[in-house]
Amino acid sequence: MDFPSIDKGKLKTLQVNLGYKCNQSCHHCHVNAGPFRKEMMDEFNISIIPKVINDYHIETLDITGGAPEMHPLFKDLIEKVCKLEVEIIDRCNLTILLEAGYEELPEYLAKSKVKIIASLPCYEEENVNKQRGKDVFKRSITVLKKLNKLGYGNKDGVLKLDLVYNPVGASLPPPQGSLEKQYKSILKERYGIKFNNLLVLANMPINRFSKYLQKEGKLNSYQSMLERNHNSNNLKSVMCRSTISVDWQGNLFDCDFNQQLGKSNNIFPRTLKDLSETNISIEGNNINVDSHCFGCTAGNGSSCGGSLT
Ligand code: SF4
Ligand code: SF4
Repeated sequence: MDFPSIDKGKLKTLQVNLGYKCNQSCHHCHVNAGPFRKEMMDEFNISIIPKVINDYHIETLDITGGAPEMHPLFKDLIEKVCKLEVEIIDRCNLTILLEAGYEELPEYLAKSKVKIIASLPCYEEENVNKQRGKDVFKRSITVLKKLNKLGYGNKDGVLKLDLVYNPVGASLPPPQGSLEKQYKSILKERYGIKFNNLLVLANMPINRFSKYLQKEGKLNSYQSMLERNHNSNNLKSVMCRSTISVDWQGNLFDCDFNQQLGKSNNIFPRTLKDLSETNISIEGNNINVDSHCFGCTAGNGSSCGGSLT
């Protein structure tokens, strides 16, 4: 089954990958991040991000990695973009905020009103540790409590804290609304933790997760399941329609998944530098789709912002 052709709409989000270095090495990681990865965005590319945001009237800077906080210019970037009064998202793995040298970062993020989107694939300790590593659950809970103390996660508050769920195995995620209620009640009851929204994401059959499926003999059945559950209503809101994804070298992609697969679309502008030197509209550009895209449209749909329907 071929994935339908789709085009770019109005650009709203610049998603920037600052590099693949991470303090964790999760099984499902689609960027194969880890402590020994060396790739980091250079100073030049970081310096032109504010200009691109300004020139293209971008509403959200979505910072990702690896653990983006490990980039030496992470705070520098936030300081510059704060002045543009756009939404800034830190895709945070939580545990980095307990590592030596990063203990003051939660206060800094709160002061800068940075939205935190944090992965917590389950409210059960065993499941989280199985997917993300030994003691990750306990350490994540410690950080969530600290963020709550700083004012993160209050209903109607300025400091937004969203959690991300993805299935532990080869299945589609359950409906976002009912799972959010369950998460909220269990995390509140057991640990006194609150958060704003639960974002439910499907696992993409690429990189580390694809290797896991292959090892389990489930790659073909997982792909067929995604295709069988394709919902064309989700095509209008898949994230690539309003997002540009930038890799650590400044190359542009339609989304983070295409970036990890090295699937650029060979249409100008191709780099962050191109974007900063021109002011060309990308609206109407064809998106480079392939079989993995069914991971975004299956069932209730999936994107960096959670379910689509
Ligand atoms: S914390 Fe995130 S970036 Fe780091 S290894 Fe896990 S999934 Fe990958
Ligand atoms: S994988 Fe990327 S290009 Fe494909 S539909 Fe999803 S967001 Fe769009």
